[in-house]
Amino acid sequence: MAARLRLENKVCIITGAGSGIGLETAAQFASEGARLVISDINLEAVQQAAEKINAKFPSAKAVAVKCDVSKEEDVKGMVDKAVAEFGRLDVIFNNAGIMHPQDDNAITTEEKIWDLTHNINVKGVWYGCKHAILAMRNNKAEPEKGLGVGGSIINVASFVAKLGAATPQLAYTASKGAVLAMTRELAMVHAREGIRINSLCPGPIRTPLLMDFLNTPEKLNRRMIHNPMGRFGEAVEQAKAVVFLASDDSSYINGTDFLVDGGLHACYVTPE
Ligand code: NAD
Repeated sequence: MAARLRLENKVCIITGAGSGIGLETAAQFASEGARLVISDINLEAVQQAAEKINAKFPSAKAVAVKCDVSKEEDVKGMVDKAVAEFGRLDVIFNNAGIMHPQDDNAITTEEKIWDLTHNINVKGVWYGCKHAILAMRNNKAEPEKGLGVGGSIINVASFVAKLGAATPQLAYTASKGAVLAMTRELAMVHAREGIRINSLCPGPIRTPLLMDFLNTPEKLNRRMIHNPMGRFGEAVEQAKAVVFLASDDSSYINGTDFLVDGGLHACYVTPE
């Protein structure tokens, strides 16, 4: 019998799948045989992604859904759609997030920017966890399909939740710290239900989110000198880590701040 793909038969949701890390993760999940609900606030972007995935990966199936993660009814609707379409939910990748251009230091950041950032980056992750956990509790073991009870939840934080930066984006940094703390606590509360919950902490990645923010050579270089590997990461390098955390290969990994940052968190002085 041929070996199973790593996510074969698993029902997986990805939020913010219209661009960057989420989009790349959708392709990686599909290449590993997942059944997918891919969502974004930008419906057209995920519809196009679903079309491409369904054409390229015959063993996978992707359904596109519009979901603003800061709205609980949208998040519930997305989880309900996954269960209605595929009968269960095994994985959610709570990836959608923003970094606002007007997010700055303690003095200049406006309350509306703080609230917007936290509504998406923190509340959005909470809603995703809440409705995924409720659905995962209903999972029955299907050993012939390689499916168990429980599930895997991956929440996107950031390396900036682990390190201070003198190039502030205070609302964003605080929001990602909240994701780390929330994830750890959820991981403990639900560990005995077979639900593993981990944070992914990407380093600086070459996606629209960061590249739109670092829109001058000065801003780019200010960050680049601190990067041990001398380059920003690629979205696919995050996506491969997410496949690992989603799959049973990581079956004893729970409550971690999983850093995929080229060693940035461990760096004092970079190589010449
Ligand atoms: P991106 O901007 O390329 O993609 C983010 C996607 O989220 C977009 O498709 C956007 O439409 C969607 N989105 C925005 N608001 C939404 C909402 N309210 N509801 C649903 N979808 C929404 O960004 P990315 O770089 O791929 O970032 C993905 C995640 O990774 C974010 O949480 C981000 O904070 C985190 N992250 C990124 C980096 C980096 O350097 N790029 C570093 C650390 C963490």
